[in-house]
Parts: sequence; C-alpha cells; structure tokens
Amino acid sequence: MLKDVIAPIQAWLLSQGRCVGCGKPLLNKKSVKRDGTEKVTCECGRIYIHDTKTNKYRRALLEEV
Ligand SMILES: [Zn+2]
Repeated sequence: MLKDVIAPIQAWLLSQGRCVGCGKPLLNKKSVKRDGTEKVTCECGRIYIHDTKTNKYRRALLEEV
C-alpha cells in the first residue's frame, strides 16, 4: 500500500522539522506561541504543533487548527 511507504517518510520529515507536504523546514515559519507549544503554519497551508520543550513537530489536530 502506498500509505505504508508515505507514513515513514512523513515521520522522518517531521523528525527533521520539515513539512510533510512540501519538505520545507518549519523553523522560522509563521507561528503562534502557546503554553509550551507553538502552532506553525507552513506556506503550503499545513499546520503543525511544535513542542518547544522536546523540540518535536507533529501535525495539528483538527480542533487545534
Ligand atoms: Zn509545507
């Protein structure tokens, strides 16, 4: 299945702090600081949550957008 191939690539991109859609670094993108996290919006429109303590990115949940 294609999804089985894409998921590890996306996980790898996120671990590198990069957008899973366009591969661009999420550092210095437009962000909104919250309690211990930042909401980062990529230029391609995807939204991520950056945990500033662990320095990890993940896709934002629908209710966080
Ligand atoms: Zn992007």
